[in-house]
Amino acid sequence: MEHKELRFQRLLSNDEVTNGEPVYLFNADRFVRNFVDLQTEFRKIYPNTRIAYSYKTNHIPGICKLVDTLGGYAEVVSSTEADLAYYMTARNTGRVIFNGLIPGKYMVDILKFDGKVNVESWEGLKCVLENAEKQVKIGIRIGEEDSRFGFLESELFKVLSKITEAKQIVAGIHCHVGGSRSLQTWKKKTERMLRIARDVENILGYPLEYIDLGGHLFGRMDEELKKQFGDDIPTFREYAETVATLVRDTYEKRKSMPQLILEPGTALIADAVSILATVQNVKIRGMKRVATLDVSSHDCGMIADYKNLTVENISAPDLKSDIPTVICGYTCMEEDYINREYMGWLKTGDRVLIHNCGAYSMSMKGNFIFPMLAMYMVNDNYEIQEIMRERGQLSDITARCAIGGRRCAT
Ligand SMILES: *Cc1c(COP(=O)(O)O)cnc(C)c1O
Repeated sequence: MEHKELRFQRLLSNDEVTNGEPVYLFNADRFVRNFVDLQTEFRKIYPNTRIAYSYKTNHIPGICKLVDTLGGYAEVVSSTEADLAYYMTARNTGRVIFNGLIPGKYMVDILKFDGKVNVESWEGLKCVLENAEKQVKIGIRIGEEDSRFGFLESELFKVLSKITEAKQIVAGIHCHVGGSRSLQTWKKKTERMLRIARDVENILGYPLEYIDLGGHLFGRMDEELKKQFGDDIPTFREYAETVATLVRDTYEKRKSMPQLILEPGTALIADAVSILATVQNVKIRGMKRVATLDVSSHDCGMIADYKNLTVENISAPDLKSDIPTVICGYTCMEEDYINREYMGWLKTGDRVLIHNCGAYSMSMKGNFIFPMLAMYMVNDNYEIQEIMRERGQLSDITARCAIGGRRCAT
């Protein structure tokens, strides 16, 4: 990788392409490293590991396509996302995993093309059983008392009976635990799922094809952000050493080892996207300075609600300040915070880079105040490779709308 100053210079020279507008920079090198490193660490211990990228975390088509190129699966939670996955990859590759909540006949279509469907409600199960024209292999999502998703362990016997009575097959079990991303949480859920898998196999009398442990792993992050999460941020290797080892120890003597599936969203995309923005003004408010940017915290993703994102001033990289600057977005909401205690020096017109904006950002932003930023693919040296999405425009708001029964012209 080139020296920082060189890379910063190149970022500014990219203005010829981006017109100096705020943009998302998708670092494809970094995304590929995240994918390959996570997969490699797990496969070193448990070769039959598969990575399924969580579309809802960021489903810009260029990113989904890259996942497909890397041999990853698509993890989708709606019929729309399933269609997007089919647009990325041939239907019959079977590299689609459906974990949605709204049942529909499309679930059977996914199964028909060898994709995986993890049912999570009685209604979902009923839908699959009623619509299946031939024998299908069904996955079961397992939940917990404190989560509304999936079946409770106490319901499992009945779920298995229903599937068996319908002469269908159970392919695997799935879980996705929100809240903590810690190693301890992953250890606990892996042990639980392995125990449930054994019970399920004993009842069924045949082996499962997969154990899907869901997503919610920590991604890589810079030191400034890391500090705010406390000490316990496992590396990909540490996750693998805990999780893959437990799975290997359970199945190593077995002829057909079940697939271990991971469904990372955040861990792959969060640190692969930065935003290049411009300071619009700086005001003094008591003992603080307040800077407003031409992007908003909504562009930065859910993380901005509770953490200070790392901001680098690329116009004046090394200028420090004695008093903190609250870095805010363009919305007319008082609490549009991107960093509440930035200790560098900012002035109007400075260009800044905001890091870790990949997860739950573009996929959740909508058209609040301004439409979505453009996205460019860059490499580690911030050389622009290609455009991935154009800047949004007014027609994003008016398209498909009608007034008095007449379509809005744009
Ligand atoms: C949201 C989601 C994921 C991805 O979660 P991250 O925290 O972004 O890794 C994976 N699997 C399921 C079922 C999900 O709902």
